[in-house]
Amino acid sequence: MPDARIPAGSRPPQEEVLVRAAWVLTSGPAGEIEDGAVHVRDGRIAEVGPYRELRGRLPGAAVEGDGTGLLIPGLVNTHTHLSEALATGMGSELTLFEWGERIVGPLGTALTTEDAREGTRLRAIEMLLSGVTTVNDMFVHSNPGDAASVGVVAGLEEAGLRGVVSFGAEDADMSGARPGAPPWAGIGRIMAEHEALAEACEAADLVSFRYGIGTLLGQSDALLEAGADACRDRGWAVHTHLAEVREELVAATGRWGRRTVPHALALGLFERPLIAGHGVWVTEPDIEILAAHGVAIAHNPVANMILGSGVCPVPRLRSAGIAVGIGTDGAASNDGQDMLQAVKTAALLQKVHALDPSVIDAPAVLRMATLDGARALGLDHLIGSLEPGKRADLVLLQDSVCVAVLHDPCGQLVYGASPRAVRSVWVDGRRLVDDHACTTVDEAEQTGRSRTLAARLAVATGLRAAGFSRLGPG
Ligand SMILES: [Zn+2]
Repeated sequence: MPDARIPAGSRPPQEEVLVRAAWVLTSGPAGEIEDGAVHVRDGRIAEVGPYRELRGRLPGAAVEGDGTGLLIPGLVNTHTHLSEALATGMGSELTLFEWGERIVGPLGTALTTEDAREGTRLRAIEMLLSGVTTVNDMFVHSNPGDAASVGVVAGLEEAGLRGVVSFGAEDADMSGARPGAPPWAGIGRIMAEHEALAEACEAADLVSFRYGIGTLLGQSDALLEAGADACRDRGWAVHTHLAEVREELVAATGRWGRRTVPHALALGLFERPLIAGHGVWVTEPDIEILAAHGVAIAHNPVANMILGSGVCPVPRLRSAGIAVGIGTDGAASNDGQDMLQAVKTAALLQKVHALDPSVIDAPAVLRMATLDGARALGLDHLIGSLEPGKRADLVLLQDSVCVAVLHDPCGQLVYGASPRAVRSVWVDGRRLVDDHACTTVDEAEQTGRSRTLAARLAVATGLRAAGFSRLGPG
C-alpha cells in the first residue's frame, strides 16, 4: 500500500520517471521492446526504447519497475454506464428490454448527483485496477428533480481518470410514443441536462462531452430530431447504442420501415463523429454505411454474453476498416468493470463462435483495447499507444504469477493477465495506482459508503421490495 493516500479531490503530481519492464508493448510504431522503458515527463511520453539506452541518457532519473512483467498503454474502456455503478447484480436474467423497463426506469427516479459521483468513484477504482485510463460513459438514468449525470464528471475528476461522458435519456417506448409521459421527460428538460453536462465538462481537466442517445427506439421522433439538430449546430460528437439485440431490428422496421443504422443515417447522426455500443446485429449494408461514415463500434463481449444478445462480427467490422474498441458495458449489465476480463473475453468469444482459434489474435485484441479504442473516440492523437509526444497514460503489470512467465508477452497479457498484476497506473503522468492500490480514492472507505448508498437506492426505488436486491438497509 502507498505510504500516504492522496486526500479525496486532489491528485498526485505529474512525475518524471523511467518505467521499466521485461516487455514494453507499445501498440505503436516501436512494436514490442524487450527490456524496454518509457520516459515520462510533464505528463507526456518523452521517449520509448531499450532500458539501457534510456538509462544511459538519464542517469539521474527515478526508475519504476524491476525489469520483469509488462508495460502497456492505458486501456480504453469504450463503453460503460457509470449510472449503474450502485445497481450491479440486479435482474441479471432479464432480457435487455425487460431490464430497461424494470430496473433502469425505477432507478432513474431516485438517483441523485451525489449517488452518481460516489458510484463513479467506486467503479473508477475497479477500472484503474484493471488497467483502464480512459472511459467512455453514458448516463442512462433520468431523475426528474436532479441533473444527476453531472455527478459522473466530479467522480472521474476526483479519481483522475480520463473520460468522455454523455447523457442517454429516453422519452419513448418502442413505438415512439410513451402515453402519459410525465412533463419532466419533455425535450426541454432533457436538452437542459445535456447542456449542464457539457458545461461541467468545459470546466473539467480530463473529461470531455458527447451527445448521448440511449437508443434510437427509446426516443420520440421529436427528441431524435432535436438531438440531431443540436449536434449539427454545436459540433457535438455522439455516443449511442446500435444493433444490440435482435428485437431492436424488428421494432425499428415496424416503427420506421428500416433498421436502426439506416435510420441513424437518415437523421444525419453520422455527419458527426459517432461511437455506438455493440453492433451485434449489423447487416452487410449496415457495415458499408458505418465504414463509409467513419462510425466506430464499442464491442462489449461480457455484456453481450450475459444478456444473451449475440456475437458481434468483430473480424468483419475490422476488415471493413471500422474502428472497434472494447468496453465493459455498465456495472449492471456485465456485472463488473474489469477491463482485462473484457479483453480476454473479446478474444475467446470470437474463437468459439467461429470454431477457429486463428480468427483473431492477441496483438489485434490488445490493439482494440488501446489504439483502436482511442481512434474510436477520436483521441488517438493523444493516447492509445506508447509514442513520444502522447499523454503519459500507461500501465505496469508486475509482481504476479500471471505475468511471471512470458514466452509470448502479448498473448500472456490478453489471455493470462488479471487485476492482481496491475502494479502501477499513470494517467497524464500522474500515478493513480501505486503498489496495487488506488492513490486517489480510498478503496475501503469508498466501498463502505457505496454499500450504504446502494441499500438506500434499493429501498427508495422499490427494487428491494420487488425482489431485485437482497442488500439490507445501510
Ligand atoms: Zn450500454
